[in-house]
Amino acid sequence: MYEAGGPFPCHNQAQAVTAPEAGLECKKASLLQWGGMNIVIVGPPGAGKGTQADRLSAWMKVPHIASGDFFRAELRAGTTLGLKAQAYIDKGQLVPDELTTSMILNRISMPDCAAGVILDGYPRTLPQARALDAALAQEATGRTIDMVLLLTVKEETVVHRMVDRISCANCGKVYNLTYKPPREPGKCDRCGHNLYVRSDDKLATLQERLQIYRAETTPMIEYYEQRNLVHSFNGERDMDLVFKELQECIASHG
Ligand SMILES: [Zn+2]
Repeated sequence: MYEAGGPFPCHNQAQAVTAPEAGLECKKASLLQWGGMNIVIVGPPGAGKGTQADRLSAWMKVPHIASGDFFRAELRAGTTLGLKAQAYIDKGQLVPDELTTSMILNRISMPDCAAGVILDGYPRTLPQARALDAALAQEATGRTIDMVLLLTVKEETVVHRMVDRISCANCGKVYNLTYKPPREPGKCDRCGHNLYVRSDDKLATLQERLQIYRAETTPMIEYYEQRNLVHSFNGERDMDLVFKELQECIASHG
């Protein structure tokens, strides 16, 4: 069993395939050339993927690249790609997938990504996943998306987690309107401050995000499922338990 803090499992695999017979078995022999594992983490809003990606990043010692990070890096560096993307954003237009894909390739080509990356938030749609695959295939490095970690949660759970959560603007105490409501509605138990609740706005925004997820991300998950890359985790449960399962899954694929 792979232990936390040890060498990343891919490295062991790279060593193992120096034996000729093992090399035939190794479905990711190309890792010999590149040496890392690209992981995509996916799930609806409120599934906890940002948190899990952060924890996996610390454990695997590989960068957690959230959607937008690579864009900001290009922009800071003042690259042509960054300026092109900014021009779309300034006009209120979506940045084309090809351009975003070029930025992500630049980002994952940096030395800190040599042992792998955890991509969070991109790709998010089927065309993005295809564009990324096509771009990776054009490189001669043998890089591919190796695993897709899917956190599943019921939509009602997402609503409880995100919309019902309110915090006191004065003292920061957190409430959940369903599970942990204030004793007196609209008033903080601890400091008596008024709790402003804009649940209707929050609910509308969340429902829109969930709708986009169903429409745009589900086809991408199916695409990765056809390639047997998807590992599904029940994100309804305790975060520590989910993290442990993620670790075990990654270790067993190293
Ligand atoms: Zn308070």
